[in-house]
Amino acid sequence: MTSARAAATIEVMDGPMCCVECFNDEWLRDYVREASTEKGDCDYCEAENVAVVDVASLYGPFQNLLRLYAASDDGLGDFLINLIQGEHEVFNEELYDGGEADRLLDDIMGSGWDDDTGEPRVNARDLYEPALSQWMTEAWRDFCAKVKVDPEHEPGLPELLDEELGRMEVVVPKGSTLYRARLGFVEQEGEVAAELARKLAKAVPAKAA
Ligand SMILES: [Zn+2]
Repeated sequence: MTSARAAATIEVMDGPMCCVECFNDEWLRDYVREASTEKGDCDYCEAENVAVVDVASLYGPFQNLLRLYAASDDGLGDFLINLIQGEHEVFNEELYDGGEADRLLDDIMGSGWDDDTGEPRVNARDLYEPALSQWMTEAWRDFCAKVKVDPEHEPGLPELLDEELGRMEVVVPKGSTLYRARLGFVEQEGEVAAELARKLAKAVPAKAA
């Protein structure tokens, strides 16, 4: 009976387990602490008898984080693992330096990968580029569409993006003209885009004729 019970326990824990010490990011560390229901030895770092979670439980937060990046299709960019570590210091530094963070990222993203979608499986050593502007544009359009129907609607941004929003804050010089977004804006979109294009053209130093 004892061995059958042990086998059943192993079956429940068949996915690789990572731990709170694998991560440097405070939000993720809290997330692991809250999601963990057991103590054990980590499959990635050296930690023993710590709060562990199945890597699959981290798929959601990492899927959100990876929306900030797009696979490079021109051979430029940087390894995905370098981008997210460089900008967010997601993983424990030793885990990153030793290369185990690559395996952890691959396993987290692999846990939710569905080959039926035709999307390639995420690989920590694939080349990626920041896609923040693309993503923010989509999120902004989505927010604009919803807030017109419901003025109380709040943008549904993942928590890991808070830091990115902070970075997008700018100090506006005194006396700058500010525009307020209003209903009907879309009807003038062409006009606004043309004005923006004129400003951008001015901002680029003109080559001497
Ligand atoms: Zn660990």
